[in-house]
Parts: sequence; structure tokens; C-alpha cells
Amino acid sequence: MVKAVVGANWGDEGKGKITDMLGETSDIIVRFQGGANAGHTIVNNYGKFALHTLPSGVFYNHTTSIIGNGVALNIPVLFKEIQSIVDRGVPMPKILVSDRAQIVMSYHILFDEYEEERLGKKSFGSTKSGIAPFYSDKYAKIGFQVSELFDEELLKEKVVRICEQKNIILEHLYHKPLLTPEGLLEELHSYRDMVEPYVCDVSLYLHEAIKEGKNILLEGQLGSLKDPDHGIYPMVTSSSTLAAYGAIGAGIPPYEIKQIITVCKAYSSAVGAGAFVSEIFGDEADELRRRGGDGGEFGATTGRPRRMGWFDVVASKYGCRIQGTTDVAFTVLDVLGYLDEIPVCVAYDIDGEITTEFPTTNLLEKAKPVLETLPGWKCDIRGIKKYEDLPENCRKYIEFVEEKIGFPITMVSNGPGREDIIYRNK
Ligand code: GDP
Repeated sequence: MVKAVVGANWGDEGKGKITDMLGETSDIIVRFQGGANAGHTIVNNYGKFALHTLPSGVFYNHTTSIIGNGVALNIPVLFKEIQSIVDRGVPMPKILVSDRAQIVMSYHILFDEYEEERLGKKSFGSTKSGIAPFYSDKYAKIGFQVSELFDEELLKEKVVRICEQKNIILEHLYHKPLLTPEGLLEELHSYRDMVEPYVCDVSLYLHEAIKEGKNILLEGQLGSLKDPDHGIYPMVTSSSTLAAYGAIGAGIPPYEIKQIITVCKAYSSAVGAGAFVSEIFGDEADELRRRGGDGGEFGATTGRPRRMGWFDVVASKYGCRIQGTTDVAFTVLDVLGYLDEIPVCVAYDIDGEITTEFPTTNLLEKAKPVLETLPGWKCDIRGIKKYEDLPENCRKYIEFVEEKIGFPITMVSNGPGREDIIYRNK
């Protein structure tokens, strides 16, 4: 059976924790999109880890971790990450890399930096991991697929072609040092040597695994609102963040995805630029940021302070719908225990019109939050295992959100650890 774990919001919802938790009953965990730009933070018996490329299942002995064809594969980052977990006592994970995955080259990272520098104040707030230049090249059909690393003739010809094209931009647009075919070939050879033992025909592997009835978990990165089609374009990421893309980025039939667990955070946070209707500022935001997540809301990749806001019903309802949610995992609820009252954004006011449907970006820019305030529960809910044992106001908050978004909240996360989870039968 195939399940997907994806985000309802802007990312950082706690997908890593939910994946790590569900990893216990999974045989295979697959990353199907994105690259090393975002990160998951995972707390388990080995310690606290920030993963950027490895699937969150690498901490179990019984799981196979797969980098699917849809991923932007940064080979040195992948290997550094494997080394860093092995160095901290985690057994060497079983990893397979799709022969159809494409490779993030060092020049993709440079182009990302140069473009943000050129845009200055108008920049997208990229993490400068090369993701946008990588996906541009993939769709311009000048990317390198893992399988191509093993065709020397092809590489020799292609590096010349790439240099011709890239050097025009480097020289005339960015005024930066040029690339050489020899340099690129050397880079590709080093990647070939690193990745060779892991290369696999992943879609075939998964086809067999599905036939054998294995449990497969597709692990998404970021969230619905960062999807290039359905998100807040252009302040989005460059590959689809939706469960549906799991079929493509892993190479499996779409109808095999039976459960879509959408991770939705009990308040909002976002990184990078773009409209953020329920955003809060000043001391109110600082306090939530400081108390948020596990040790504060700061980017797992960049360490940047995240933008903070109240729970946004409009964005989350849409975020869950566009994922095709079967189950909502409602996370970091414990963080809100300090508030006397909890504002929730229940609708948007766009030029005097009240709506609960998420608009396109041009209208989103004009939206003002319509807030409703719920009473807080003023206590620490960590350690609680049963839904009935949660304080009444806390249950009311969950049920209010569930009713407004229209999807069942079947899991409530009340702490960063694997065991901090309350299941609800729906
Ligand atoms: P991801 O990219 O969606 O996996 O999210 P991040 O890892 O960037 O952010 C989630 C943060 O919240 C991490 O630091 C987690 O350890 C933490 N976290 C996850 N679930 C909970 C929870 O229920 N309560 C608390 N306090 N922290 C949580």
C-alpha cells in the first residue's frame, strides 16, 4: 500500500516527524520532488537531525530509502548527509537512487546566487541551493540524468554544449568567471564514482514492491502553497509539492496512492517572500517564533527566522483540498499552550468581499485577514496520549479547525518526538 505525507501550508509543518513516525510500519520511503533547499528536522533516539536530501526513514534498519526521479539530486550533499548520520551512530541506511534522477551541478548553485544578487531587493528569497536553475535546465532538456554519468562519449559532447550556453550568460548577464568543459567533466566523474553503488531502476523496483504488498511512503517537501501550479506563484518552489506528483516523481501509477496524509500546522509560518495573509509582527510574532517548533521557528537549511502567523483556515482548507487529503495530521499544537486567546484567520476580506476560498496571487496580495478568537487552554499538553485527555478548549480548537477545513484530523501531534502523537478514530 502506498501512502503520501505532504504539507498543507508553506512547508515546515512537521512532515519529517510524521514520516519518521510512520517509517516504523513502512518498508520503503521515497523522496519524489525538491532538493536540498528545504529541510526536515527529526528528533529520535539517535538525537536531533536536519535532513535535506535523505528521506526521513533513514533511521530505521528495516526501511529502504529512495531518491526518486523527481528529486533535484545534489550528490555531494547526499553523501555528506549519509556520512553525518553514520558518524552519529545511525546504522548505514539502505539507499537507492533513481537512474532517471537529475543532478544539481555546482553551476546551478552559482546561477541561483548570481540571480538573487542581480535581483537585489526583488529577489525570491531563494535558499541558493540551485533548485530553480536546476529545474529550468531539466525542462530546457540540458540537465544531466544519473544514467548519463555512465556514458562518457555523451558527457564529453554535452559539457562543451553546456559551456557554450552558460558562458554567454555568465559573461554578459552576471559578469562572473566562466565554466570549462574539463572542469565540468571532472565534476561529473566525481559524482559518477560517488553515486554508482546506489543507482537503480526505481520505478521497476517500486512496481515489484507494490506487487509484493510492501508498504511504501512517499515523502513530500514544502507544502501546497509552494506548488508551482497551485501555490502562490511566483513565490513558489520549482517542483510540484503535491501528492499527485508522487506518482510521477517516484514512477508509480497514481491510483496506487491510497492514503494522503496532509500535515497541517496549528499556527502558520513561512519562509521567503510572498503574500502571507495571517502574518503577525513585533512581540507577538517573536514570542510565537521563540516558542514554535522544537527550539524556535528558524529555517532548517538557512537558520533564517521564519515569518509567523495565526492558523489560516482559507489557506489550509485549500492546501488540504489540492493535496487530495484523506487524513490531516495536525501538528505543533502544544506550542499554543501559552496563549490566553488564540486568533484564527477564518476568511479573507478582498476589496470588501468576504471569502473562504483561496484566491490567485494577484488577489491574495490584497487580502486582509478576518479573525475569530478562540479561548486558549493555558497548559502544557505534551505527554498526553488520548484525545479525551486533552483540555476541553484544546479539543474545541481542533474541532473548530476540522470543521472549517472540512477534512478529518486523524492525528494530533503534541511534541517533536516520534511518540508525541494522539490518534483519533474517524
Ligand atoms: P518539515 O519540513 O515539514 O518536516 O518541518 P520542519 O522540520 O522544518 O519543522 C518542524 C519543526 O517542528 C521541527 O523542529 C520539529 O522537530 C518540530 N515539531 C514537529 N512536530 C511537532 C509538535 O507536534 N510539537 C512541537 N513542539 N514541535 C514539533
